[in-house]
Amino acid sequence: MPVSFSQLGDNYDIVVVGSGLGGLTCANRLARCGHRILLLEHHHRLGGLATWFKRKGHIFDVSLHGFPYGMVKTCKKYWNKAITASIVQLKNIVFDNPQFSLRTTFDREDFTRLLNTRFEVPLATIDRFFATVAAMNFYDDQAMTTRELFEQFFPGRSDVHRLLMEPITYANGSTLDDPAITYGIVFSNFMSKGVFTFEGGTDRLIALMTEELERNGVTICTGAKVDKILVDKKRVRGVNANGRTISARAVVSNSGITNTIDNLTDREIYSSEFLEKAAKVRVNNSSCQVYFGITDGESIDDIGDLLFTSKAAEFDAAELLSPQSTSKTFSIYYPKTRPGQNRYTVVASMNSRFEDWAGLAEEQYRREKDKLIARTLVDLEGYLPGVGAKIDWMEAATPRTFNSYTLHTRGTSFGTKFEGLDISRTIFKEVAGLFHVGSVGIIMSGWLGAINYGVIVANDVDGYLRA
Ligand SMILES: Cc1cc2nc3c(=O)[nH]c(=O)nc-3n(C[C@H](O)[C@H](O)[C@H](O)COP(=O)(O)OP(=O)(O)OC[C@H]3O[C@@H](n4cnc5c(N)ncnc54)[C@H](O)[C@@H]3O)c2cc1C
Repeated sequence: MPVSFSQLGDNYDIVVVGSGLGGLTCANRLARCGHRILLLEHHHRLGGLATWFKRKGHIFDVSLHGFPYGMVKTCKKYWNKAITASIVQLKNIVFDNPQFSLRTTFDREDFTRLLNTRFEVPLATIDRFFATVAAMNFYDDQAMTTRELFEQFFPGRSDVHRLLMEPITYANGSTLDDPAITYGIVFSNFMSKGVFTFEGGTDRLIALMTEELERNGVTICTGAKVDKILVDKKRVRGVNANGRTISARAVVSNSGITNTIDNLTDREIYSSEFLEKAAKVRVNNSSCQVYFGITDGESIDDIGDLLFTSKAAEFDAAELLSPQSTSKTFSIYYPKTRPGQNRYTVVASMNSRFEDWAGLAEEQYRREKDKLIARTLVDLEGYLPGVGAKIDWMEAATPRTFNSYTLHTRGTSFGTKFEGLDISRTIFKEVAGLFHVGSVGIIMSGWLGAINYGVIVANDVDGYLRA
């Protein structure tokens, strides 16, 4: 159980600021190494964007839509067996747009079949494409864009580009103009075995992680917003939270990298070269979501686990971000998702810009949310005629919602673009004992990316404290 703020000690080896999957994993690894860890989270629950909420008997998952098979290995190695055992495949991934409608298991074998038989791409080209993306790594040429990669293999085939790109844009906000490696690494991760989810929901995952953290001795305190990371003579001294100073030899910030630099630390502690580079970091887009709860006792047909739907003529990153976008992902949660609960929920996710929502006055904001819900319901009715009569809860979240719960700059859902990675990886060279973990550079984002990054940063911190 989280401890109350007044019960905290004055001194820890390491303070972790924020309990996203990156922060949780980093804290857990460091505790296993024998360090005394304090985990401070501003929200009243752990998990960051890996979160859920309850309404009228429904439990809505916010970011549990799908992750790659790599989660199995990662959770087995860095969390525990109980967590690993609940990772299960989502087998019905559906696309429906003016260019094609199809169902797939979203893995290499099935994509090869589809690309060859449905899209009539020669097998040799498909194999070369898969081999190329599978071989991509951090040290590759970062100048080639995903657009150029696609044109090289599938020139002029906007339908193929859409099949390959649309899900990844939903998964991490990347576009055709981002470096091809950010696409290649994430796409290959999914293609290895398909799309997976956590049986029992995000609440169960976070409960299991919390138990593990407590077993390993991490002190957890929620409702504790860190206001400042304290630095003296280019060395971390601790944090200020709720008007109190807590000392630490190292601080790991799981707050966004832009937040960490702009709000949690004083700019004077950084070199001008670092600040110049940091100023160029672009944050990724945010999201809108609409949550539908199906009345207890009612059921809905199986229309797939993940449904990528759009009325746009072609894949268009700008259309995907527009408040009027017709493009969205429906995640359908059947009773099997939460064994023991005979309930159905549907979550629609859309990529969105903070700017489109931030300036709206309260009344207009409410109206726009209502319109978003109404438009989304019309789209859902297209797949589940009459579903409106079965729904007893509807609610929308916008970039403002994500900003207010996580404090992330412009409510970003997927951290920063690629350039954020270098800033996140070098912040400790600017200030001894200051580390960052969290969504940066697309690759270190998403559930798997955030957890893996937590492990990498824990190794850095452990090495620093032992040096
Ligand atoms: C709508 C949506 C859908 C998504 N769908 C998927 C999906 O299907 N699959 C997938 O893999 N990924 C998905 N993601 C992305 C995934 O959820 C995130 O990439 C990942 O959870 C981020 O983890 P993180 O470690 O970067 O921290 P975050 O989750 O960003 O958490 C950071 C934490 O730090 C806390 N914090 C910030 N500042 C302070 C402070 N000053 N003091 C104390 N605490 C602070 C915040 O409250 C928060 O809890 C989705 C994201 C969104 C928004």
